[in-house]
Amino acid sequence: MQFKEVVGQQVIKKNLIQGVKSGRISHAQLFCGMEGVGSLALAVAYAQYLNCENPSDEDSCGVCNACNKYQKLIHPDLHFSYPTIGANMLSANFIDEWRTVFMANPYINASQWLQHIGTENKQGNITAAETHEIIRKLSLKMFEGPYKVLIMWMPEFLGKEGNVLLKLIEEPTDNTILLLVTEDRDKILSTIQSRTQIVQLNMLSEEEIYEVLQSKYNLPEEQAATISKISDGNLSAAIALMGEVDNNFHEIFRDWMLACVKNQMGDVLMKVEEMNSLGRMQLKNLLSYGLYVMRACILYNHGVYDRLIANSSDKDFISKFSRFINPKNVHGFAQEFSDAIFHIERNANPKITLLNLSLQVEKLFKIQAS
Ligand SMILES: [Zn+2]
Repeated sequence: MQFKEVVGQQVIKKNLIQGVKSGRISHAQLFCGMEGVGSLALAVAYAQYLNCENPSDEDSCGVCNACNKYQKLIHPDLHFSYPTIGANMLSANFIDEWRTVFMANPYINASQWLQHIGTENKQGNITAAETHEIIRKLSLKMFEGPYKVLIMWMPEFLGKEGNVLLKLIEEPTDNTILLLVTEDRDKILSTIQSRTQIVQLNMLSEEEIYEVLQSKYNLPEEQAATISKISDGNLSAAIALMGEVDNNFHEIFRDWMLACVKNQMGDVLMKVEEMNSLGRMQLKNLLSYGLYVMRACILYNHGVYDRLIANSSDKDFISKFSRFINPKNVHGFAQEFSDAIFHIERNANPKITLLNLSLQVEKLFKIQAS
């Protein structure tokens, strides 16, 4: 992974490179950023830069022996640690899956990873056995160097076992660099936080996401525009949305809302069944699409709609639907949809969540602007 493959984050890349050039490399760093901003990708690119045999002022060379091994994540001095499923599991048990998944999508999120290696509802964990394995691995001699690097993705999955690592974080063995990559700094043991240097990543802009969807994934202009709006600066979400934001979404949402407006309980129940069969991930996307529609309606009502809404199939729907959305009920809609997404993400029963949401939405439709 080279810096140029990591979306945005220009200032942070520059600072990291500057640090290496001037020999100020902290031995324990905590990369912090919301889901989908690329913290893991950046940590891997940084590690590759550290070990590249011929780095420039902007990036690793991408062709030397070290870079070659780094691109495939098989450099013998590069170690990964991440949440796994099952007692006493080691990250090494899943290394083949890890390489495949990361190389296909360096912006993967934790639930996608856990789904990949287990079942959806299992809790991930960085086990006590794994922490001892880390200490063992990092005590081995260096194979190729110049740095041994451990990238721990999601230290928030460490329980108290994490304290075993404190000594290592405080006084790492020679030329060992620990890069911890978190989405939620508050969930990390404070003893670990206080011993690391923070590298804070920025949110991605709508334009940055739009650019990637077009250039890397060849998404049609309209679809890229819609997804970059819905995904809220989260590239993991944007990638997951590809192929799932289509006319079908638009139809399901439209018919469901129509049933709610008309208070037709039979139709609402039918739509709930249909949405329930989408599966959790798609359902979450559908609800995010709903949030986007609500926002778009407000823009339409303020007359700034043409400039901001690119997708023409949405346009027609939004122009008609926007008369049901007004300043008095829009916050309620946003709140209810956000809450439903929150519950779906946390494994609430999708059917009950959708029924509840439908009832709230019916009430909100009755609130008039004046
Ligand atoms: Zn290189």
